[in-house]
Amino acid sequence: MNQSNILVVGSSNTDMVIKAAHLPTAGETILGGEFFMNPGGKGANQAVSIARLGGNVSFICKTGNDIFGKQSMQLFQDEGIETYLFSDPNHPSGVALITIDSEAENCIVVASGANATLSPDDLKKADGAIAKAEYVIMQLEIPLETVVYVSERATELGAKVILNPAPACALPINLFEKLYLITPNQTEAEMLSGTKVKDLDSAKIAANIIHKKGVENVIITLGQDGALVFTTGEFHHIPAIKVKAIDTTAAGDVFNGALCVALAEGKDLIASTEFACKAAAIAVTKLGAQSSIPYRNELSLNQT
Ligand code: ADP
Repeated sequence: MNQSNILVVGSSNTDMVIKAAHLPTAGETILGGEFFMNPGGKGANQAVSIARLGGNVSFICKTGNDIFGKQSMQLFQDEGIETYLFSDPNHPSGVALITIDSEAENCIVVASGANATLSPDDLKKADGAIAKAEYVIMQLEIPLETVVYVSERATELGAKVILNPAPACALPINLFEKLYLITPNQTEAEMLSGTKVKDLDSAKIAANIIHKKGVENVIITLGQDGALVFTTGEFHHIPAIKVKAIDTTAAGDVFNGALCVALAEGKDLIASTEFACKAAAIAVTKLGAQSSIPYRNELSLNQT
């Protein structure tokens, strides 16, 4: 199959996960259950998703000069990802502390470490990777100025830029017009549009506002309600696949990775969103971030 090259520029973290009966409130100490460490970070999760789902993927990231950074590099090599890993001698690798309750709800604190020093100057050293990409996807766990730089450079070189604006933050208005597609979840769509997103109708209002800022296409992910696609002036609702959710960590990352794979294979935005919903539904039935990312051959299975 003919496939375009996909470049992910983003974070790489190590997730430290504890399962607990409920999420602790302020000042509370609780005894949790199982503990495990898992590679994570939105950038890495999306790069691994693309690789496992059969895409041609390169990944640019930055870690500390420590054991977590070395483990990440090994992992990316094992996954078959062409990796441009910058090493920061002054900051540790990023980590995320995650608690998951019995309802599969989670709460997450991230210490960005070296992810926060991935700079436009670093990216200039990886210009060849930007030049050969046809799709570039980024998230917001690296500095905004780097996201802006890559959006401009990639657009100049003819790539389509996709922004998964997570975690939510205000964006400079001139960034929107550089984007082919933006993929907020409900919270992020609220932040970007200034309007509450609680159902399909309010998601349509938000998508319209975000589109008017200058981005060509908008997909708002709606958790167990699937996703709303706004393209060529029309709305399309793609329902989620019904599954028993165990852990929704990385659902959005798998969705975004799968979306890129389908687009790079030449599918349109609607068919690509259907593919992304299928992949994300499998991910929510498994624990963890990268441990829950499905392989391409799982996509015909596990669906109801
Ligand atoms: P994020 O993980 O970024 O907060 P969402 O919660 O919107 O993003 O989830 C992303 C996608 O994952 C959804 O569009 C949907 O396709 C899928 N998904 C999330 N939760 C479920 C669920 N409970 N059942 C099935 N699919 C789900």
